[in-house]
Formats: sequence, structure tokens, C-alpha cells
Amino acid sequence: MAASAGASSWSGSSGGSTSSQGRQLATAQPAQEERLVVAVRVRPSLEATERCIEVISGGSLLYDDGGKSRPRKYSYDHVFKENDTQEQVYRTTTAPLVRDVLNGYNAAVFAYGATGSGKTHTMLGPVPRKKPSTADRGIATAPGHEPDVNSQDIGLMVRAIEDIFGYIEAAGPESACKVSISYLEIYNELIRDLLNPGGPLELREDHRGQRITVAGLSEITTSSRKEVVSLLLKGNKARTMEPTAANQTSSRSHALLSITVQMRTPLGTKQGRLFLTDLAGSERAKKTKNRGKRLQEGAHINRSLLALGNCINALSGGARYVNYRDSKLTRLLKEALSGRCKTVMIAHVAPESKHRDETKNTLVYADRANSITTKLQSSV
Ligand code: ADP
Ligand code: MG
Repeated sequence: MAASAGASSWSGSSGGSTSSQGRQLATAQPAQEERLVVAVRVRPSLEATERCIEVISGGSLLYDDGGKSRPRKYSYDHVFKENDTQEQVYRTTTAPLVRDVLNGYNAAVFAYGATGSGKTHTMLGPVPRKKPSTADRGIATAPGHEPDVNSQDIGLMVRAIEDIFGYIEAAGPESACKVSISYLEIYNELIRDLLNPGGPLELREDHRGQRITVAGLSEITTSSRKEVVSLLLKGNKARTMEPTAANQTSSRSHALLSITVQMRTPLGTKQGRLFLTDLAGSERAKKTKNRGKRLQEGAHINRSLLALGNCINALSGGARYVNYRDSKLTRLLKEALSGRCKTVMIAHVAPESKHRDETKNTLVYADRANSITTKLQSSV
């Protein structure tokens, strides 16, 4: 394992400039033609109570606003119901992107949704709940956030890493691949290294505003899947956890894992990068009954999620100008999202009727992105 902490580049390669020769590391074409795939995942009900959502097929669901009007149907590229497995979610959303990354493209997966809707479960796996305690004031690093790596419920981050190593091992020792990871969080518009926690890190841009780097972010090269998994779990423990009225273990930060795969081919080096992002809870500030610092967190989160939605919508709508500058999240992801990147948005919703408002907000956010891609396809 080699760690470097310089100005770690968050800019991807131009993508797919050389072809994979001789070995079937990846298919020659991106496996999935759509630029943006929008999925909704409904988590299992955590209590026996009235529901506000019913999945009616693999692509649509019904939302009930509490009897004010007739249930409304929403359709997406995929809808995952409560008992759909992590494996199904991985195979449908992320596995095709892993093949693209091994072919030299950039790709990004976002887990969106209110606190408690299942984002971290999808990205990382089941996380033991932390009991609320009086010590939970200010920023605390939550202990015990360590999912079982061998569990069938392990999430997309670990599955993607395992898959990448699986492809590389199958290609044989001469395949000359280098896998490196960096893992950071954005909390209150401050960037922190989750693999080497310390003070906030600065974003740097070159004079043309094209190349974005995070000064001092560690980028760890490893050839062992076990090592990567343990780094990932260690990194997750370092996330800023903050109890709110909405959920005792809610995370108020965006966590961005970047997996870079460099492959040497007879024609040169090609590089692909996969960004896996566990976004901060999208709930509105009033839901969390917070004041002062919490309210400020909420404002930062809302602004960055809005900026992300605007970028994704502008890109999938074919806009000439996309504004990435409104948040650190979008500035960091600029080169991942632009160019030939594939993006998957997995919007998470809770089925209990008490979460009706947040569920609706999430369905609408996802629908906005989805309707743009649908419009594009039907006009081709
Ligand atoms: P978030 O990260 O969006 O705040 P979590 O991932 O922490 O939400 O999920 C909230 C709770 O629901 C956790 O106890 C988690 O284990 C459970 N949960 C979420 N999604 C699922 C799922 N698909 N299957 C089983 N349990 C789930
Ligand atoms: Mg979470």
C-alpha cells in the first residue's frame, strides 16, 4: 500500500482514449448508453404503521398524500422495493458503471434522500445504531459504525471495489493496473480527508478553472481488496455524525469515495474513475427542529443538493452552460459530471406515512432529473 498526500487531483482522464488490448478487462463500448439513470429505492418499513408509498412495478410507484388527492404515479428507470437485495441494486445501478470505469471512463453514483431513508445502507451496508447520549453535543465521531464486510447486505462501495479487483485478477498478473482511493467529506462547505483526518483542506483550481485539486488529500494505492475495505470502514468512522431530531445517527456531511483505476496498455495509460457519494440528508431545516449551527448545516446541505440537481438536470438536458460553482460538492465533481461521465442517482424514500413530506420532496427531485432524460430519449 502506498499513500500520497499531495495535491490530489479530482480531475478525471479525458476517458476512453486508448483501447484495452488482449484482455477482456472491459467491453469496448460503455455498457450503458444513458448518461443519467434515475432509480428510487424504498426502504423496508421500520414500524407497523400507515404507508404513503406502494411499488407497483420495477419502474413505477404510487404515492399517497394522505387522501387529499388520488394517489399519484411516479415512474423512473428503476424502482427498488423493500425486499430487493443489495446485490440487485448493485447489479442494476453500479456494475455497468464499473465496466465503463475499467474501460477508461468516469462514472458517478449518488445516494440521495432524507436522513433515515437508507442512503448509508445502500452505499456501505447495515450500520449499527448508536444510542442517543448526553455526550452527543457538538460534532462527534460516532463509534461502532462498522458494517460486517462479509454480510450479504454489504453496500455498493465495497461491492464496486470487490468487482474491480475481480476483473483485474481475472485479467492476470500482467494486466498492469493500479487502483487508488481517496475518501473525503464535505461538512458545512469544509472538506476533510476521511483516510487521514485533520484540518480542512483547500480546493485548488488551475487558471482556466478546469482542473480541480484538493491540496493535501491522501490518495492511497493498494493491491489488496481487504486493505481497501478496511480503509473504507476506517474512513466511514471518521465521518462527522450529528444527532438531530430526525435521526440519532444522521450524517450532516456528504461523503465522496473516489476509486481511480489506471491501466497500462500497449497504446499508453488509460484511467477511469468511479465516484460513489453518500449525500447528506436532504430534509428541510424545519423538520430537524434545529437552530443556530444545525440550521446553518441545513442551509449548506440544501444549497449543495440544489446545485447538484441543477448540474445534473442541465447536463442531461444538454445545456451548453452548466454552473458548477455554487457548491464545493459540484465544484469537486465538475470533471466527473462533465465529459463522458455516466451518472446514477439513487433516490431513497421511507414508506411510513409520517415521512410523507420528505418522501414527496425526494420523489419530485428524482422525477425532475428523470423527466429530462425521458424527454431526450423520446425526441431522438
Ligand atoms: P440514511 O443514511 O439515509 O440516514 P440509513 O442507511 O442509516 O439511512 O438507514 C436508516 C435505517 O434503516 C437503518 O437502521 C438501516 O439499517 C435501515 N435500512 C435502510 N435501508 C434498508 C434496507 N434496504 N434494508 C434493511 N434495512 C434498511
Ligand atoms: Mg447515512
